[in-house]
This record gives sequence, structure tokens and C-alpha cells, in this order.
Amino acid sequence: MIFKLPCMDGVRTPFYYYDMALLRSTLEEIKKCIAGSDVHVHYAVKANGNPEILKVIAQAGFGADCVSGGEIAAALNAGFDNASIFYAGVGKTDEEILFGIEKGIGCFNVESIEELEVIAELGEKAQRKVPVALRVNPNIDAHTHEYITTGLEENKFGIDMRCLDKAVDKALASEWIDLTGLHFHIGSQITITEPFALLCERINKITEKYREKGIEFKILNVGGGLGIDYDTPDENPIPDFKGYFDTLISGMHLQPGQEIHCELGRAIVAQCGSLISRVVYIKEGIGRKFLILDAGMNDLMRPALYGAHHKIEVVDPRDEAETDVYDVVGPVCESSDVFGKDEKIPAVRRGDLVALRSAGAYGESMASEYNMRRLPGSLFVG
Ligand SMILES: *Cc1c(COP(=O)(O)O)cnc(C)c1O
Repeated sequence: MIFKLPCMDGVRTPFYYYDMALLRSTLEEIKKCIAGSDVHVHYAVKANGNPEILKVIAQAGFGADCVSGGEIAAALNAGFDNASIFYAGVGKTDEEILFGIEKGIGCFNVESIEELEVIAELGEKAQRKVPVALRVNPNIDAHTHEYITTGLEENKFGIDMRCLDKAVDKALASEWIDLTGLHFHIGSQITITEPFALLCERINKITEKYREKGIEFKILNVGGGLGIDYDTPDENPIPDFKGYFDTLISGMHLQPGQEIHCELGRAIVAQCGSLISRVVYIKEGIGRKFLILDAGMNDLMRPALYGAHHKIEVVDPRDEAETDVYDVVGPVCESSDVFGKDEKIPAVRRGDLVALRSAGAYGESMASEYNMRRLPGSLFVG
């Protein structure tokens, strides 16, 4: 394991441990890859909205991609530039839209013609022209888990390509809408480059079609979705950003003045976080041993929600060579509260600490108080 915990006497578990040095080197690597290009990166706040994390990302000069009024407020509090805040989501309420307009955020990524009409009305009410990108559903299979694929016709997200003409006409016709771009997001935890290359081709086709009509989009937003290595986090603590950005930069046919925007969440914060938990019991079942943790699905929901697996490690094991096989579970009253089955790890005793790795994204941000449990704490190191 790559990290050492400080003295743990009296520290309440479970808690999220954040390796801030890794977060900073991840941000530096992204900056290196996009230096001198037309690429702008917005951090997807929903991956982890912890104020300490947001502050570091804002200070590094990134924008923010938000999916609720609450996230816009959190991004503003953390110091993100108003104009660098983009707002996506299929169900923006009037209150949230007005808040975004008042704060002068950089772009509303609009997901339907119905929403476009409401934004135009609210822009008029606020007497402010509202910057808008149309979110297009490109019908691309991201080859990822069905719950985290978002760019297929059957998903609720974005405007179907067959309705795009109508949406563009409507946006251009409204004096309260400033049509700045197109937005796409095909899914999450995408670990191969093909879907991104395919997306670039699709975007080129669309922009060429509109160029023939004399319509140019300044912002081409490809969304997020770059995946990380959950199996061997210490071998790949930083994702292959160079491969990702090179695919975008070489794949998109940009016109002068056009910008590529992307919205990375998981790829930025997943590897810097681990959920640290204490072994409460080792329960002898029939033909199996249950390692029962004090962390549950309310603290880290991805395994129960998506069948995801986080690498399970014993913190400072007594003896690496002496292993045992456990079903690692939480205390919550749900059969899906399982972190791993048949996990071969160093033998543990009651009171030992266990780390669930790569938990920085969609971990703390999804935590709840289900079963009236306390929310997990957080510890920042480095
Ligand atoms: C969730 C989301 C992202 C971030 O996705 P990651 O897989 O974490 O990179 C980006 N854009 C939109 C619109 C999203 O909903």
C-alpha cells in the first residue's frame, strides 16, 4: 500500500483518507497535457464535492461542471470563477436556473427543448441573455456499465440528434439565448479510447453540417468519462491523460477560435481517496468467513449500486504472508452491502484497519445516513 496512516488512536472510523499530493500531481499532469492546446477542463463536482478537494482544484485553475444549484453554490464557495462554471442536468428547476443566471455562470448545458423554453423565459425575467450549449445524445455505446452509460438513445440524457435542428433553430430565434456550443457526455469509467474517437467523429459530422448553414459553435464540450484502474491503483495512480487528450486533440477538426471543453470527474479524484474502516467482527459462517467492517454501503455506495469493486487492503498487516479468505461486508441491513467476496488478503483480527482503495470519486459524495449512521469523516494528508 502506498500510504501510511498517522497515529490512529482515538480516530473515529470509517473515514475518507485523501492523498492531496497525488491530487496535485494528477492536476499537474492534466495541465501539462493540455498546455498550448484549445482544451479547457472542468471538474465534475458530483464526483467529490468535499470543500478541501474543490479548493485545490479551483486553485489549479480548472473550471467546474455542476449538476445542481447546490453544486454551483459549492463551486462558488470553493473559489471557482463564475464564468468557468457549467451546469448540466435533465431536471433543472426554475430556482436553480435563476440562481445560475444571477451568478453569471459560463454555460447551461440544456437537455431538452422544454428546458430551453424555460431558460429563455427566465432569462427575459432576469433581463440577462443566457449562454447555452445544447446537450446532444450522440447514440454512442461507451461499453461501460449499463447504469453509467449515458449517450444511448434509450437514456434520458440530452437531445436526440433528430430533434437537434429544431432546438438549434429555437435557440437562435430567442433574444434571451446565446447559443455558444454543443455538449456531449457518453458515460463513465471508459477505459478504452475508441468511444472517445467515435465521439469526435460524430461531433465533426454535426459541426460540418451546421457550418454549411453558416452556424458555428464556439464550445465543443465532450463531457467526461475517462476511467481509472480500480484493480491495481498503485501501478496506475494517474490515468493515461496523454492518450485521452491526444485522442481529442487529433480527433476533433477545430476551426479557429473553437474550443474543446471536457468535464472529468472520476479521473481527477478517484485514486487520491481511500475509505478507511475498522474490522468489527470476523464471523465464522458455513464454509465462509465474513469480515464485517464498520463501513457500509451508506459510506461507499458504488459496490451496492453498480456492482463495482474497490481493491481491499489491510493497513499495516501483521504478516503479509499469512493470508485468509473473507467475504468483506458492511453492517447495513441490506444483502447488497458487500464490498467483496472470496477476498484473499492478509489475516486480520478484530480492530484492524482495512482500506477500500480508489474511493475518491463517487464515494464521499454519495454517502448517506441510511440506517441512521453517521456520515464518514475525512482526513487530508500531503
Ligand atoms: C457525471 C458527469 C461527468 C463526469 O463523469 P466522470 O465519469 O466522473 O468523468 C461529466 N459530465 C456530465 C454531464 C456528467 O453528468
